[in-house]
Order: sequence, then structure tokens, then C-alpha cells
Amino acid sequence: MNNFSIAIHGGAGTLVKGMMTPHLEIEYKQALKEALDKGYQVLEQGKTAVEAVEQAVIVLEDSHLFNAGKGSVFTATQTHEMDASIMDGKTLNAGAVSLITGIKNPVTLARDVMDKSEYVFLAGEGAMLFARHLNYILEPPTYFYDKLRYKQWLEIKHTDNFKLDHSEKKDSKFGTVGAVACDKNGNIAAGTSTGGMTNKRYGRVGDTPIIGAGNYASNKTCAVSCTGSGEYFIRGVVAYDVASLIEHKGMSLNDASNEVINKRILEIGGDGGLIAVNAQGDIAMVFNTEGMYRACKTSNGKEIIFIYK
Ligand code: ASP
Repeated sequence: MNNFSIAIHGGAGTLVKGMMTPHLEIEYKQALKEALDKGYQVLEQGKTAVEAVEQAVIVLEDSHLFNAGKGSVFTATQTHEMDASIMDGKTLNAGAVSLITGIKNPVTLARDVMDKSEYVFLAGEGAMLFARHLNYILEPPTYFYDKLRYKQWLEIKHTDNFKLDHSEKKDSKFGTVGAVACDKNGNIAAGTSTGGMTNKRYGRVGDTPIIGAGNYASNKTCAVSCTGSGEYFIRGVVAYDVASLIEHKGMSLNDASNEVINKRILEIGGDGGLIAVNAQGDIAMVFNTEGMYRACKTSNGKEIIFIYK
């Protein structure tokens, strides 16, 4: 049996110690632990890495604390447009959705695109039509309403700015979510889900649903889930770049992740981080911001839940 492991993240950004109340810090750690345990349990039962990342991401999407699913940020027109993707490292199958609204768990719709359609990436009205064909129940806008998110949006809605929900201001703290896992058979997978950037407009799409940018998995190299300034992560083809350094330069998982996050993406001005796993169950969690909500658990008995550096 292979070592198995899972890592999750809830966004990277300006997360400085002392920034939030001890109570809120506990809430974040509890939410991360719940997602971690859920994913780990799936792996322990001998199920697939794909199933584990989907289940872990669902827990994070259902929490109002993170910018995905329930806690998604507001767009310029005061709606919620969500993006998500999932990839199976064993088969290189992938599914992604973008610009969807009212869907409680975007990662599940991404998985359905992967498993139940002949496509990889569905966006906007077409993605919603696909969801309706599969009898998804749509949540009303009130389900996605969050007081703090609304306040963040009010502050910039009259400007042309759009921003990361969990960066810039010291009291801003949410984030895109993701999970990577290696199962008992040595198969790996990655899943990522987001509400995108506050005040985004014109059908803006970030890195999260783009295979190779915000999410990627191949048993040959690694599974990666990213968070950060999506425009830079798209231009840096970040997730695939990590895989590429492993495949073509023979780098370790950790070295490749560091090279991309602390060098290549920084050089073009991108901030954020990523989590990665390989088919041996090794884990990397790397970021160039002050913090990243992150946690991992391995069958070797390692378990950590961190927010700050
Ligand atoms: N990467 C996401 C996006 O650009 C944002 C985030 O990581 O919070 O849509």
C-alpha cells in the first residue's frame, strides 16, 4: 500500500498574526480541520484521491469563512460568479466550470463535467444549463450573502478596482479553497474552487478553473491547487509549471513549488501560493504572501494546520 496524504488551502494573502480575534482564528482552524478530516477519512476508506479532494473542497465551500461556494465575494453587479475545477492525475481527466451562479458546490459541478459530459470546461449559461439537466437545485442569492463580503464590495464598488478578498487590507481574510490528495493506490488529484475577485466585471475568469494555471494533476509529476492573483497565475501557467520542472528538470516537489512561487511568479508581480502532492504522498505548501490558510495530514502520522508563516 502506498502512503496516502491530503493537503488543503483556504487562500493566501495578507494574513498577519494578531490580525484577527482569537475566536475567529479558532473558527478558521476548525473549518480547516473539518475539511482535512473529511478528505483524510475518504482516503482511509480506500476511496480515490478525486473523491477525497471533492469532499474536502465541499466542506470549505459550505463554510462562510472562505471565498468559494457559500462565502463567495460580490462581483461589480452585486452577484456571485463562481469558478471551480478538478483533475484526476491517473487518467488526466479534468472538469471545470466558470461564471456559474446559485450552485452550492461548484466543485461537484466541475466533477460532473469531468464524469458526465464529453467536455472539459463549461462556462456561464451553458454550464448552468448542464447543471439544470442534472437536476441541480439552485440556491437563492441570500444563501451566498455575507456581511463582511458585502462591506468589502461596498468599499470599492464605485471604482474600477477589483481585488483579492484576502489581501491588501489587514482585516480582509478569506480565500479561494483547494485540496490535493494521494490515495492508497498512489493516484493523485487536485480540486480548486473560488468566488474570484471582489468587484470583478465583464465576465472575468481567474486561474482557478483553468487547467494548468490554478489546478493540475498528473501521477507522473504532481497535483497542484493554487490561490492568489489569478491574472498572474494564468500568465505563469503556475500549476503546470511546477509539474514541468519536476518532469523536465528532475526537481523535487518542494524545490519546484518554491521555484515557481518564490521566484518565477514573483518576478512578474504575482502574489499567492499553492499546495502540491506527488504519487509518493509527499506534500509541499508554499506561498509568497504573509500567510496562507493551510493544513495537511499524512498516513505517516503528520498533521498540521497553519495560517501564518
Ligand atoms: N485565484 C483566485 C482568482 O484569481 C483568487 C484567490 O485565490 O482568492 O480568481
